[in-house]
This record gives sequence, C-alpha cells and structure tokens, in this order.
Amino acid sequence: MSLVAQLQTALGAQAVLVSEAEVAGYLQDWRGRYGGPAACVVLPSCTQQVAAAVRIAGRLRVPVLAQGGNTSLSGGSVPWPDGAAPMLINLARMRAVRAIDTANDSMVVEAGCVLAAVQQAASERRRLYPVSLGAEGSCQIGGNIATNAGGTGVLRYGNTRENVLGLEVVLPDGQIWDGLYRLRKNNTGLDLKHLFIGSEGTLGVITAACLKLHPLPTAQAVAWMAVPNPAAALDMLALFQRRCGASLSAFEMMNGPQLDYVLEHVPGRRAPLPASYAWHVLVELADSGAEPALTGALQETLQQGLAQGWVLDASLAASGPQRAALWALRHSVSQANKQAGIGLSTDCALPVSAVPEFIERATLAVHRVMPGLPIIIVAHLGDGNVHFIPLIPFAGFGPWSAVADRQATASAASAVRQAVHAVAHALSGSFSAEHGIGQLLTQEMARFKPAVELAMMRGIKGLLDPQQLFNPGRLFPAVATTRTSAGTDVEGTSDE
Ligand SMILES: Cc1cc2nc3c(=O)[nH]c(=O)nc-3n(C[C@H](O)[C@H](O)[C@H](O)COP(=O)(O)OP(=O)(O)OC[C@H]3O[C@@H](n4cnc5c(N)ncnc54)[C@H](O)[C@@H]3O)c2cc1C
Repeated sequence: MSLVAQLQTALGAQAVLVSEAEVAGYLQDWRGRYGGPAACVVLPSCTQQVAAAVRIAGRLRVPVLAQGGNTSLSGGSVPWPDGAAPMLINLARMRAVRAIDTANDSMVVEAGCVLAAVQQAASERRRLYPVSLGAEGSCQIGGNIATNAGGTGVLRYGNTRENVLGLEVVLPDGQIWDGLYRLRKNNTGLDLKHLFIGSEGTLGVITAACLKLHPLPTAQAVAWMAVPNPAAALDMLALFQRRCGASLSAFEMMNGPQLDYVLEHVPGRRAPLPASYAWHVLVELADSGAEPALTGALQETLQQGLAQGWVLDASLAASGPQRAALWALRHSVSQANKQAGIGLSTDCALPVSAVPEFIERATLAVHRVMPGLPIIIVAHLGDGNVHFIPLIPFAGFGPWSAVADRQATASAASAVRQAVHAVAHALSGSFSAEHGIGQLLTQEMARFKPAVELAMMRGIKGLLDPQQLFNPGRLFPAVATTRTSAGTDVEGTSDE
C-alpha cells in the first residue's frame, strides 16, 4: 500500500490531506521565501496517531517534517523544493490543555496549542506563562520548544528552555517517550528534554509539554523613551536594573527607521512621541504590588535618565489601552518589514555590553558590501539579542533591486549576512539567538561551530534517527567542514 493509503487506514481519511487545494497553505513559510511539495499533510488528533504515522513513514523511508504554526523565519518548517517530498505532520488538531496544576505552578499542554491560548489558559488561573513574541497568535508550543523561542520576556523569565519542565516526544522509530515530569529538581542522569528543545524537528515530534508557570503580575507600567544612542540605552538598562530589580520585565530597543516602517506600513499605529529620534526603547515594569508604586518607580527612573542625558524624551502609558498601543508598535515590526522590502535579517546574540560596538562595526561591514543600504535594528536589548536587518526596499536601492536582479541581490545578501555574523563572532557573540537555524543558517553552523560540537550533535542525530529521515537538510550543515580561526572556509547562505 502507498504512504497515503496506509496513513488513511491508520488515522482515518480526514486526517490525511492530499489535494493541491488542501495542502497549499502548509507548503510555504510565513514570509513566502521557502517552500516545496509534500507527499501529504497529516493532521493527527493524538500522540498515538503521531506515532502510527511516524512508523509508517519510517517503514517506507519517507522523510518526516513536523510543522507548528509555520511562523519561523529561517525556512525549517516547510518542505524543500528538491528530493524526496516529506510527510508533513502539522500538530494543529492537538491543542488540548491536559492539566493546570496551580499547587505546583505547572501546566501540561499538547504541542499544537497556540502560544496565546496557553498564556490565556494560564492567566485564567492567575498564573503567567511568560514566553511572549510577535507571532504568539499563530505559533504553537511545539514550534516554540523546537526552536527554543525567546521573545520579549527573556530578560526576566528566560527562553522557552527555562520554562519547560518535561516533554512527550514521538521518536523517529515510533516509540513514545513520556518525559512529562513536573519536577523542579530531577538529577537522574542526562536531562533528555534539553536535546529536543531547539532541535528543530530533527530528533522527533514533540507532542506535549509540561510548562513552568509564574505568578501573574497584577500591576504594570510601560514607557516609551527616546535615547541618543545604544550606549545610553545600556546606561538606562543598568539604571532600571539597579532601581527596579526584578520588576523590570522588558527592555526593547529599535532604531528610528524601524519605527518609521511600523508607522508607515501597519494601519492603526501611532507615533509614541511628538518628534522623531534615532533610537527608541520600550520599557516595562511588572509585579504583584500596587500600580501607583510601580508607575512612580518608572517615572523617577525616567527623570533620573533625563537628568543624565540618557533619555531625550519619554511617554508613559496612562492606561491599559495605552500600554497595549506601545506594545503594538513593538509587535508590529515583522509585519512592517515584510511590507517594506527584502530584509537581510540577522538574529545575533551578544554579551549585552558589546551591543553598541556590534551595531557600529556591523554597520560599517554592511556598508562596505552595499554602501548606504538602510539598516533597521530591533533588539531585545535586555538579553543582548539584536535583529540587525539591512533592508532592500521593494522600490530598489542603487544597483540592487529586491525584485529585478535576484541573483546579484542574493550574492550581496549572502556577503552581508556573513559580514554581520563575523562581527558578532569576533565579539564573542552568536549568529543565531532565537529564530533557529532552519535551512538559512546551516552553512554558518559549519563556519562557526567547533568541529567537536558538530560531531557530538551528529552522533546524537545518528543515534535517534539513523535513517536521517527527520527534517533532512535542516540544522546540520550538509558537509562537515573544519572551522578555521578566520571563519571564512565556506560560502555563506543566501535565501533572497
Ligand atoms: C511576527 C513574528 C514575530 C516573531 N518574533 C519572534 C521572537 O520575538 N522570538 C522568537 O524566538 N521567534 C520569533 N518569531 C519566530 C517564530 O514565531 C518562532 O520561531 C516560533 O517559536 C515558531 O513556532 P511555530 O509553531 O510557528 O513553528 P514552525 O515555524 O512551524 O516550526 C519551526 C521549527 O520547529 C519544528 N517543529 C514545529 N513543531 C514541532 C513539533 N511539534 N515537534 C518537533 N518539531 C517541531 C519545525 O520542523 C521547524 O523546524 C517571530 C515570527 C514572526 C512571524
């Protein structure tokens, strides 16, 4: 029997999509940059169905691609154009909240739960699930875990990795691993959940997770500040940390061009300040005390920043809707950039103190390749994650046009990314902070990862997925390449 016939027999016809019209929505990524055909799309309703589908694919040697909300931006969640088409498993039908345990501050959810629904379910029990990002209305917990998603809450609560207590996973041989522990301490050998967090669908299908919950803040204070430069933003970060301690829950920076794109391209967004400035920071304080005390602390810290010259102007949200409006500016950046042009996006992690130097050196490096190209910057500054995005406007820029000359643009894009990554590496940073490797950055893995680390990763992959069927061509570089100290031994990636 064929793959589809076997799947239909095991899972029922309604769980297996094959017609062009039905599968089309699963085959392209969020930005429309990557995609390819699938043998079929499977929509399992429970863990046993995932395991049955994986066993069938394994017997027939069909590649397996797990997909969540399909919002990742590095091309790991959609099929590839060439080679054997995968069985794509989308977890959208597995969205049960299996349990919320307030006594132990944990919840067990199925992998297809949308992040916003998890946050909502937690808040109904007066708890916080703190991972928060622009795609939270569509991305799934399984995808968050597979990419170790970061977002705006990392400064205070850590990445997804820090908020997962246990996992349930279907392994490539079809076994179900029930590791849904809800313990805060469990020193019984290797902590295997960490293998799957950030594994991008290469080691198994995550079907459920036990998540860590936190007290739900009852008071919030949010402000928008204009600052003269990234160094002043860091001075303000240190000041907030000193004065406000653990109540500092977000510290997000963007440059003027980034704010301008949001205001230009996303309907309903309004300028937070009367004048335009080169650099902006959104700051949030949150805790379970009283709102006036928190607002007072925010005001006083801003005043001190103004007196020091680290803040040029500021606007403090006076109500819930005003706080939401400031956050909407931050959460609209991806939507705005998608409409503004082709972003040569990078996602670098730096030691926080190195961010200003990184921005300065990366700007020079990009302009050596594409002189004068607009650069938009949006950073989770509190944790040192900078999205440094040279952007080719759709209208074209000098000799490069995002639409007309794709080949020249692609090779310049590749050179630009390599240059930015080299700067991050030189400053003890990383070329990938939160968006994953996907297919976009596999060659950068070869370029920057020590050979011994790649060898360990390949060993684990070979042990769990000896047929190399799970998300082939993603995360791991195609050819093992020895890293040179200069880091220039391979061609970089190009997705434009
Ligand atoms: C507007 C916007 C803003 C964003 N902001 C942020 C941000 O601030 N921080 C951040 O970290 N990311 C951000 N992202 C990227 C993206 O939302 C995250 O990477 C998210 O975690 C992906 O989840 P997903 O469900 O969409 O996964 P997908 O895109 O569907 O998949 C991502 C990877 O995970 C694998 N995968 C998915 N589900 C499973 C599963 N159940 N088991 C095993 N493997 C699986 C896929 O094979 C793929 O390799 C943003 C994206 C957009 C569009």
